Amino acid sequence: AVLERIEKKDGECRAYLSVFKEEAFKRADEIQKQIDAGEAASPLAGVPMAIKDNICVKGLPTTCGSRMLEHFRPPYDATVTTRLHDAGAVLLGKLNMDEFAMGSTTETSYFGACKNPWDVTRVPGGSSGGAAAAVAAAEAYYTLGSDTGGSIRQPCSFCGVTGLKPTYGAVSRYGLVAYASSLDQIGPIARDAKDLAAVLDVIVGKDEKDATSVDAGEGGYLVSLTGDVRGLKVGIPSDYFGEGLDEEVKEKVLAAAKKLEEMGAVVEEFPMPMVEYAIPAYYIIASAEATSNLSRYDGIKYGFRAEKFDDLIDLYVQSRSQGFGMEVKRRIMLGNFVLSSGYYDAYYKKALQVKALIKGEFDKAFERFDLLLGPAAPTTALKLGESLQDPLKMYLGDIYTVSVNLAGLPGLVAPCGFDGQGLPVGVQLIGRPFGEKTLLNTAYAYQ
Ligand code: GLN
Repeated sequence: AVLERIEKKDGECRAYLSVFKEEAFKRADEIQKQIDAGEAASPLAGVPMAIKDNICVKGLPTTCGSRMLEHFRPPYDATVTTRLHDAGAVLLGKLNMDEFAMGSTTETSYFGACKNPWDVTRVPGGSSGGAAAAVAAAEAYYTLGSDTGGSIRQPCSFCGVTGLKPTYGAVSRYGLVAYASSLDQIGPIARDAKDLAAVLDVIVGKDEKDATSVDAGEGGYLVSLTGDVRGLKVGIPSDYFGEGLDEEVKEKVLAAAKKLEEMGAVVEEFPMPMVEYAIPAYYIIASAEATSNLSRYDGIKYGFRAEKFDDLIDLYVQSRSQGFGMEVKRRIMLGNFVLSSGYYDAYYKKALQVKALIKGEFDKAFERFDLLLGPAAPTTALKLGESLQDPLKMYLGDIYTVSVNLAGLPGLVAPCGFDGQGLPVGVQLIGRPFGEKTLLNTAYAYQ
């Protein structure tokens, strides 16, 4: 049924970059046999799902939405892929995304923009636009996305689905194509918090192949859901509700806080002035790390190689010039600029100091509150083409998400209503490090 849905809907929506129909049927039969024999223990056994195209699946396309990796087939599985496979997941295909996860609209994909299933003249958000759109269009029961600066949460807000960016280190990044390694995290997108919990149970945990992954003794997310939020202390950062926030979005997000209050949570406003500096700090750090990570695409080892070139240097230049799109090139230039010797102290070092201050502000907030609640994006889904003209405007749209990555915290976005045009609005819950259970339980109670 889900494959039929993809055939009927995805021509228009373009959430998928590749679909593995035959393999999926074969796999489903295999898992059915396991279930019949009583050998499949996971609640995910046999459930059709799909993966963002920057997460490696052995032998299958992993393009990162880029010409550079159009024909790349990884020789290994990402750890999350292996874990889900072992739990009996049925992989349907790989999902559309902004090129190398750089963008907030899924329009920078080399293979064409993904559209919002609620209104195909609008963007699904990004960079995990395909991963959110696929769940919204019932073209998968759950998907995996990645979030470096909002890329799971903002598309969930635009598409009316639920998504979680776990604490940095909670989920292994092994096999995730690196964008900004100190910020990247893989996370699930699904219809509701309960489904997210089931997926997180499988993918969470330390992995010896990722030195930054940690064992926080977590797991048991699904069984921990109670729906009880009595006495929960919810902080509302007043600086998240200032200038630039759409009135209708504000209203719906505050209504979500009210509902939690009615269920017994204690809601209180407090100031968080550092949020203003999150965007510049994020774009400096993310671009600097991207510059370094993307230096591996030289036209030699793997990926795109230009057909015509004069010498070795020209081979690099031609391959990178033709293989990367505009947004990726902009980030590489920005990253090289902020890392260059004369500017290092003024930009990169300064950004790291701001990052520490933001982290400090969150630490202070969590002395008083169990979780923070605010918007995920200043608006609902934008029209296609709107932000391509104005990259700075697109960057500013990341205001409510990027500080969570800078501080390494978990963030969950759940749908909280619709604007006057019938477009979904999302509410963001931000938790303490490894506070995923609190986030999932709060969203579960709310939903
Ligand atoms: N929009 C942000 C960027 O372009 C976030 C991307 C992400 O989280 N991968 O960098």
